Amino acid sequence: MTDPLLLIDELTYAWPGEQDPVIRKLSLSIAAGEKVFLAGASGSGKSTLLALIGGLVLPDQGTIDISGQSLNTLSRSARDRFRADHLGVIFQQFNLLPWLDVVGNVTLGCHFSALRRKRTGAVRSAAEALLKAMDLEQRLWHKRADQLSVGQQQRVAAARALIGQPDLVLADEPTSALDRDRRDAFLSLLFREIDRAGSALLFVSHDHELAARFDRTLELSELNGAACHAIEAGA
Ligand code: ADP
Ligand code: MG
Repeated sequence: MTDPLLLIDELTYAWPGEQDPVIRKLSLSIAAGEKVFLAGASGSGKSTLLALIGGLVLPDQGTIDISGQSLNTLSRSARDRFRADHLGVIFQQFNLLPWLDVVGNVTLGCHFSALRRKRTGAVRSAAEALLKAMDLEQRLWHKRADQLSVGQQQRVAAARALIGQPDLVLADEPTSALDRDRRDAFLSLLFREIDRAGSALLFVSHDHELAARFDRTLELSELNGAACHAIEAGA
């Protein structure tokens, strides 16, 4: 059996000043190329878990390994570099830089990582190919990001996350602002490009309707707390 791409063991985290941890002894693993749906109610800790996996906050207890590298042992700057090299992130609010144009936002995914640039090759043409693949019309490529509709911004955010074939893409409810048809179309585009890049996908959402399209579904409420081992044993 090959090592998992993402391995989380007994992760616990409380936000500073909070008594109760929002993530409690949570364990999970994701294989290379696997597409996993993580469901959880609003406020249950989905974005917190993604911040932990992205190395933006450090766990109180437990470990996170990505591609065999333990995040806990890295310095802050090394974690930033590791994130730039290995992870693509689609944020809930997309976090595009409003003053950059569309192509500039996508190539940004390569800006902080030599490894990512190397994998990408010609960065500009790779960005354009991804934008085309995400169905974003060419007339929009040189518009400022803040002049795009929500659906367009979301496809730019996906292209930015995917450039340079990251090992793992984290997606934080990227479809929550879309109607059903647009949501389904977006997922189809995202999956096609995830498969092409060979990336794994951890997609969090409160919208259970999406679950059937993924390789595997997890419930945050079941992973959190003492129940996690029973769930894994039965999976
Ligand atoms: P979800 O993404 O599932 O809606 P979150 O991870 O955003 O849930 O939030 C889980 C809990 O953590 C909430 O109680 C929220 O108030 C708290 N929380 C989230 N982000 C922060 C933060 N930056 N600082 C302090 N508390 C936070
Ligand atoms: Mg959230």
